[in-house]
Parts: sequence; structure tokens; C-alpha cells
Amino acid sequence: MTLRFYGSPETLAEDLKAETERLESVFSVTRPDSDFARLNADGRIAPAPETRDLAEKALALARETDGALNIALYPLVKEWGFTTGQYQIPEPDRIRELLPLTDWHRITLSDSSLAIDPGMALDPGSLAKGYTADVLTARLKEAGVTCALLDLGGNIQAIGTRPDGTPWQVGIRDPEGEGHLGILSAADTAVVTSGGYERYFTGPDGQVYWHILDPLTGAPARSGLLSVTVVGPAGWRADGLSTALFVMGADKALTHWRETGGYELVLVTEDHEVIVTEGLADRFTLSEPDTYTLKVWKHD
Ligand code: ADP
Ligand code: MG
Repeated sequence: MTLRFYGSPETLAEDLKAETERLESVFSVTRPDSDFARLNADGRIAPAPETRDLAEKALALARETDGALNIALYPLVKEWGFTTGQYQIPEPDRIRELLPLTDWHRITLSDSSLAIDPGMALDPGSLAKGYTADVLTARLKEAGVTCALLDLGGNIQAIGTRPDGTPWQVGIRDPEGEGHLGILSAADTAVVTSGGYERYFTGPDGQVYWHILDPLTGAPARSGLLSVTVVGPAGWRADGLSTALFVMGADKALTHWRETGGYELVLVTEDHEVIVTEGLADRFTLSEPDTYTLKVWKHD
């Protein structure tokens, strides 16, 4: 995590770090006393206000994306070894056994309780970083900060502009290389990328298996996309959507963008196309025109 901000006391950095650690201790499934670890162990908790809020947002996005975003996939994420790094390709029978335990309709949320069925387990990893960035953004704004750039492991949050008034310049990672494939000008917005390159392993069959799963198959999502960047006002939504649209693929992402709006996209396809939506056309510069072809999507 890197926080850069201007014109404010240094103690603010300590406050933000403490707040991030507090949220991590509430959300992180791998911390035995977090809300999600206790929920997964006991089946029911009285959620902290943030947990309640995050779960509500995750369920709303699950409905909106027809379950492409599904925080109940955790039993499968674990089975593939993405939680521990002990990667394995599960037997098809094992996947069939676990899929019924990933039904997000069976999550019950009320004011005072969050509950799941036996065998189910939740993992808010697909939107918790974006949510945390929103909380930090609100703190910075309350403290009167007007220029800041937060980087929570690939989740970028731009607050205002650079101190000289020009937009922040955010590099979009090249999913197949080390550098970036383009630069985005950003002011007052979240920029969140989900990609296969973040966490993956190569199986004995030579195939690459990555950590974003298709809830319909229980296997890594292969939709023709290598990465999805969502640019929009709310970090949690940009984070959740980047994961969901990666699962849905370019055609469905285009439909969602046209029908829902409120955000812009940079998609990188397996065919080495970089697709940007209309609103980014003047804000995105391709740095690798020899490797990638730029295409612009319009609203109609
Ligand atoms: P990153 O953590 O690399 O920023 P994402 O925000 O895309 O990436 O979240 C991916 C994580 O979410 C995975 O590591 C896994 O724990 C979980 N996950 C995988 N597939 C899905 C899915 N379809 N819906 C919700 N969460 C998922
Ligand atoms: Mg995400």
C-alpha cells in the first residue's frame, strides 16, 4: 500500500495506516478472529457495521451482474489452492460437489445478523480493497486534503489532481509483461484493475490457471479477456465490477456499460486489443502500439 498526499500533517498517515489495519482485521478471511473467518466457522455472526455494509454492497453487485460477482465462491477458491499457494486442479467431481455450496442467494443479511448455510464460506476479497480505499478517501477529504493518490495493491484512488493542478497519471499494467501498456489521466476517481496475471499457476498440462473464477463452472474464468480496468467514483464498485466484468467477457461488459453507465473501462483482450470506452478516449495513451491495437467503444 502506498499513500501519497499533500498539505496535511504527517500524523494523518499513521491514522490512515491504523484504519486500514483495522478494516483488514474485520474483513480478512485468513485472520481467525475477523468477521468473515468467524462467519465461515460458525455460520452466523452479528456483523460489524462495515461488514454489514460490505456484504450488502456485494449482494447488490451479485444481483446486478447475475452472479458473476459471487463472494460465496470461497470453498472453490480454497479448493484450487489460491488461498494458500498450494495450487491444484480439482477433480470435476469435486467441483460439482462444491458448486451448490456457492449459491449467494443463501446468504441472509439483516440489521443484526449475517448468516450462511452449513458448508458455505464467504470471501470479500474481490471488493474489500476498493471499499477500504473509499474509507481512506473519506478520511482524507474530512482532513481537508485535496491532492492525494492511494495505491492499495493495484487499486488506485485519485483524490483531486496533482498539486500543480494537472491530472494524476496512472499506469495500466501490461497483463503479459512487466511494464504498463498505457497511461490514464485521472482526477477524483478510482481506477481498479482485475487480471489473470495477479495470481496464477501453470498446471502439469501447461495451462495457466488464475484466481478469478467463473461461478458457473467453478474454474478460472476464460472470457477472452486478460484484464479489466474500471474507472469510476466509488472504489468498492469499481473493484467488484472489475472482477465481475472479467468473468462476463467483452460483449457482456459492453452491454453492462451501455445500460448501466456511471463508469468507464479499459479492457485488454487475448487478441491484443485494448478497448477503451468513449469517456476515456481523450484520457488514455497507449504506450505499446506495436503489441496492442487501440479500439474505442461508443455508447450507441
Ligand atoms: P485482486 O485481489 O487481484 O485485486 P480481484 O479484486 O479481482 O483481484 O478479486 C479476486 C479475488 O476474489 C480472488 O482472489 C478470489 O479470492 C475472489 N474471487 C475469485 N473469483 C471471484 C468471483 N467470480 N466473484 C467474487 N470473488 C471472486
Ligand atoms: Mg475486484
